[in-house]
This record gives sequence, structure tokens and C-alpha cells, in this order.
Amino acid sequence: MSKLNLAGIGMTSQRTRDRLIHRLIEQGIQNIDVLEVMRTTPRHIFLDEALSHRAYEDSALPIGFQQTLSQPYIVARMTELLLAGGPLKRVLEVGTGSGFQTTVLAQMVDRVYSVERIKPLQDKARQRLQLLGAHNVHLKHADGGFGWPQKGPFDGIISTAAPQQVPQELIDQLAPGGRLVIPVGDDNRQDLMLVTNIDNEIELTVVEPAFFVPLKSGLVK
Ligand code: SAH
Repeated sequence: MSKLNLAGIGMTSQRTRDRLIHRLIEQGIQNIDVLEVMRTTPRHIFLDEALSHRAYEDSALPIGFQQTLSQPYIVARMTELLLAGGPLKRVLEVGTGSGFQTTVLAQMVDRVYSVERIKPLQDKARQRLQLLGAHNVHLKHADGGFGWPQKGPFDGIISTAAPQQVPQELIDQLAPGGRLVIPVGDDNRQDLMLVTNIDNEIELTVVEPAFFVPLKSGLVK
């Protein structure tokens, strides 16, 4: 697990960030460790300067290339669902985007493998992760719909982009006892799903409605 290096990062007022944490609690986030990581992770460095004053609002915000930094509530919720089965060693993230969810995970699990299809977003995320000293993260420019078979199986997989169906490749890369948290659906309707692999029996549970960008195939250089 990485402990972040926050020297010189500059933080928005404690009160603004505490307000966000209260909102997360009101919305039902219960895992104390998740709340603490959400409180201390500097979200403003994952945004362009023009938007950084909005970093501690509970909303999704644009990061370019028609993509968004996910809403803090859903980051917390997905992280909580992923961790609900106990501590995790190896986690795959599909859709690095800004790197915020990646950074949250890096503080809570042993190793994070994160895949992004848009190279310029990955490059920026890499810089931020280095700045924060998140050394347990490995990034790859690839289509995450295929997972990262060379690094699997994973105890946890999280997708921050929505396919129309759960990709079989991701299910195949779940370790026994592993958990996959993924939004599934189209532009009109998505559900956040939890997929578990218990004794090689795959179980799918619908958690709640979700609003994510679509999982797309192909790479952007
Ligand atoms: N966790 C990110 C969310 C970014 S939005 C954050 O909080 O900033 C979802 C991301 O998934 C986008 O960056 C998008 O480019 C990426 N994505 C979409 N389809 C993908 C695919 N097939 N493989 C890898 N990344 C993908």
C-alpha cells in the first residue's frame, strides 16, 4: 500500500473537505478506511486548473477527451464494495482516466494494475501518481475490456467505464473469492453490478443505478 507524499500539494480548506465526507456518510458510505482515504486524497490535482476549485463538490467533472473524473460518492461506493470481502492484494482497474480512483485504491490494496485506452489521459495520470508517490501502481495503454491477462488473476477488478454486458475476459481474470465491480448498460440506463467468484460459481448482483461513460474498444494515441 502506498502512503501519499502530500508535501507541497496544497489542500483546499479542511472544512470544504469535511463537508464532502459528511455528504458521503449521508449517502450511506460506511467503511471508515474508505472515508478517511476520501478525506485525505487531494482531488484538485486530478483536474485542470480552471476546474480545481470545484474538486471537493460531490459531482463528476470533465477531464478532456469527453471523459469525466467520477463523482466522489461513486468512487467511495465502488471502493467500499470492492473491499467488502476483506483485504485485497492485486486489483485491476479498467479506465485510469484522471488517476483519482487509482490513487484511492493504491492506498488501500497491495498493488493496482490500471489500464486506459486514451494515451494523453494515461500520461497525465502517470505524472500525478508519481508526484503523490503512489509506487504500487502499474499502468498500461490498452483496451481494458480484455483485462490484463498477464498480471491476473486479480482479487478485485473495478471498471470505471460501462460496457453493455460484463466482459467474459474480466470474469475469467477474477481469482477464487474475487470481486468485480462494474457499471453495465447503455447511455439510457446502467446498473452498478457486483460480480463474485465463489468456489468458481459466478454470481451477479445489481447494486444501484449508475451513470458512467461507455467502455469503448480501440486505442487513442
Ligand atoms: N476512474 C476515472 C474515470 C474516468 S472515466 C477517474 O476517476 O478519473 C472512464 C475512463 O475509462 C476514461 O478515461 C476512458 O477513456 C476509459 N475507458 C473507456 N473504455 C476503455 C477501455 N476499453 N479500456 C481502457 N479504458 C477505457
